[in-house]
Amino acid sequence: MQELIDKAHSIIATSRSVTVITGAGVSAESGIPTYRDEDGLWSNFRAEDFSSAEAFKQDPTKVWDWYKERRRTMAAAQPNEGHKALAALERNHMQFMVITQNIDGLHQRAGTDNIIELHGSVWRLRCTNCLGEWEDRSAELPWLPYCESCHSLARPAVVWFGESLKPQEWERAVRASYCDTLLVVGTSALVNPVASLPEIAQKNRARIIEVNAGETPITAIADVSLRGKSSEILAQLAEEKEHTIDGMHDMDLGKAMQRGLEKFYAKYPQLRKYVDGSGGKVE
Ligand code: NAD
Ligand code: ZN
Repeated sequence: MQELIDKAHSIIATSRSVTVITGAGVSAESGIPTYRDEDGLWSNFRAEDFSSAEAFKQDPTKVWDWYKERRRTMAAAQPNEGHKALAALERNHMQFMVITQNIDGLHQRAGTDNIIELHGSVWRLRCTNCLGEWEDRSAELPWLPYCESCHSLARPAVVWFGESLKPQEWERAVRASYCDTLLVVGTSALVNPVASLPEIAQKNRARIIEVNAGETPITAIADVSLRGKSSEILAQLAEEKEHTIDGMHDMDLGKAMQRGLEKFYAKYPQLRKYVDGSGGKVE
């Protein structure tokens, strides 16, 4: 196992662009139930009863009550070491993107900036009439939330069964899949079209690293497949260390680039002020 982790570590550390696809497994250790696992949400509920436009039309209160409960669970949860490790990896790479299917906002709370929330977020609401969207993090929502501009019923801005992804978000995700390394973490990789991204990435010569508690359809195409808890494995993958590749000492590419920038500013000190907030104004 350590050998596989070292191999994955070195692939990631020497990649210029890294894209990560995450699923419910990443948040499982924060106490948020996954969907399809044995004790997952869908073993206790019929998804169509709570997560579809049909269910919402029939009984918006029932659907909202369920989402309010999920919001409470997610608000009480804390980002785990896995979320934090991904935020650390972002800091060390010039091009880094997290494509998440999660709606809990834990990646952002851990410090991840570059993120595509493909399935939306429980912290956003959308008007069923004018389709306006807004953020609402309040601990308690009204009995039925309404849109302030047109006074129509609001719904959670998440992607439900049978609904499409937002085209511009999907396009961003496809674009991010053109990367050196694709890390696929804690997703059963059964839901399309997200499940097709690893294939797109691989066709374009990305290396694929999988982190999951069990086998998934990604296992067969992955260059490295790591079995276990995402918090523990990701923490190891984000560890800062010097490692050798083919006997050569290598250092983290992100840091190498950072050093490259330092060299650049040593040569052109007058340009630094534009980025470090010390008064350089773009005119
Ligand atoms: P999932 O429940 O299908 O899979 C979770 C995966 O995480 C499993 O492969 C499991 O082995 C793994 N896992 C669990 N704990 C782990 C841990 N600690 N460390 C590492 N791996 C762990 O969840 P998913 O893949 O995120 O599902 C994809 C998407 O499907 C979801 O985001 C959800 O939006 C969507 N979905 C939606 C509905 C709906 O309501 N519209 C219903 C079901 C699924
Ligand atoms: Zn409205």
